[in-house]
Amino acid sequence: MNPAQEALKNAKLQPLWHDPDVMPAMQPALSDEVNCELLIVGGGFTGLWAALQLKEREPNVDIILTEQTFVGDGASGRCGGFLNASLAHGETNVDAHFPGEADRLIELGDQNLAEYIETLERYGIDARYEKTGQTSVALNPEAAQELKKEYEEYKASGKDVIWFDKASIREQANSSSFYGGLWDRSGQDGVIDPARLCWGLKEVLLKLGVRIFEDTKINNIEPVGADGMVTYAEKGQINSKKVLIATNAYTSSERKVNRSIVPVWDYQIATEPLTPEQLEKIRWGLPHSRHALSDFNNMFHYFRLTKDNRITYGGGGAVRYFFNRGIDKKFADQPERYAQLADEFFSTFPQLHDVKFSNKWGGIIATSTRFCMVPNTAYNGRLAWSVGYTGQGVAASRFGGRIGIELLGYQPSDVLKMKFITKKAIPWAPEPFRWLGIKFTQKALMKADRNGGKRGLWLKFLDALGLGFTC
Ligand SMILES: Cc1cc2nc3c(=O)[nH]c(=O)nc-3n(C[C@H](O)[C@H](O)[C@H](O)COP(=O)(O)OP(=O)(O)OC[C@H]3O[C@@H](n4cnc5c(N)ncnc54)[C@H](O)[C@@H]3O)c2cc1C
Repeated sequence: MNPAQEALKNAKLQPLWHDPDVMPAMQPALSDEVNCELLIVGGGFTGLWAALQLKEREPNVDIILTEQTFVGDGASGRCGGFLNASLAHGETNVDAHFPGEADRLIELGDQNLAEYIETLERYGIDARYEKTGQTSVALNPEAAQELKKEYEEYKASGKDVIWFDKASIREQANSSSFYGGLWDRSGQDGVIDPARLCWGLKEVLLKLGVRIFEDTKINNIEPVGADGMVTYAEKGQINSKKVLIATNAYTSSERKVNRSIVPVWDYQIATEPLTPEQLEKIRWGLPHSRHALSDFNNMFHYFRLTKDNRITYGGGGAVRYFFNRGIDKKFADQPERYAQLADEFFSTFPQLHDVKFSNKWGGIIATSTRFCMVPNTAYNGRLAWSVGYTGQGVAASRFGGRIGIELLGYQPSDVLKMKFITKKAIPWAPEPFRWLGIKFTQKALMKADRNGGKRGLWLKFLDALGLGFTC
């Protein structure tokens, strides 16, 4: 057994965040025919935030939310918990897909995040929010030069950013892999405990009168008559005026939803709580430095501290798309992926060679061809969806929930006229082209990362189409 496997020996195949001591009781499954005005399918951030924002806008709307397993079992309760104001996955992506809308999207993203934090405070939801900002680290001298250029651009645009050269980044987080760091501490970006957020939102919704059915998988959604919808679960039926699909990467009965996203597995591991001596060795996690870190790569790792000073570590080359939209839970059990992550973790922090991992888990990201949310409607606005946040949906999904309810006619705003909402996502190619294309692109991205970010012909071609990006 190599050191990575040894360190993972007792790791539970369960998201660190799924703490049974914190998880609220499950709501009963649907076993009857019920009526409501709005049905929301999916108990992740999008569905939960949509319900809450609608209850705040129009308290009398009767809402049912259904979740196939339990609230927070999807990406929302499995993610890294990096809270980033960006709605459209960064400026390069905005320029490629929604030219002219960058300023408005930044403004909307900041507003969304401010309301997000304010909502947590107002309802007393303890999502363990920590305002860390976001810190990118360069893993070689070439990447450090590129990252420094980004720092200069940010600085010139008035952002509150700090540059760390090779020596000073290692003072903040002591890894001999780090050659420079950019700390963006403008705005309210930070980290949260994502399952606590899901479950906190669930409790609030129940108090506000939203009916939640867990263990209730929706199989089919159909229009009925001139202004209704009927939705079939395994053991029940819901008659509603409107339906919001908030199932993100999961296969939907609505074909258009499936064509706009592909499910991509992303894996994470979490250490046992680090001792003060271990923190001292890496100098990260000491009071002066609790950065939320990601490396400045195409296939980037993201790593952060928890309240009890564990490190969660995910992403990188472990990310996988499985042929024909594989989403089966068996894909969460991938010993080689976890060993790869543990290996990479120990290369980053060899000082922590004695650390053991307590948890390992995977979750599915919905990647769209625009690399950010895909909103749309069907049946004359009776059905809407917001899916496809790609790897950055912790904050954007609240906005996705807002857009979902506005598309269904609940206090629609001018935002609905933006290209960000109206521009249709290019559908993914059918198999086997999709699988081949993703595999090939992933390889090209990894090669670029090994070559100090230099992009080959294939990536340049994709860049020209606005498609040169994966997670
Ligand atoms: C490993 C991982 C790490 C990530 N890290 C970050 C990060 O650090 N920062 C960030 O910004 N983003 C991150 N993301 C992305 C982010 O988590 C997602 O974009 C966001 O959680 C999407 O929320 P959602 O509610 O749309 O989807 P989900 O949370 O997936 O919710 C969809 C829900 O629908 C349910 N469902 C599906 N089908 C049905 C059905 N037929 N009937 C009933 N229910 C159904 C599912 O069970 C699920 O609970 C990460 C994602 C993953 C997987």
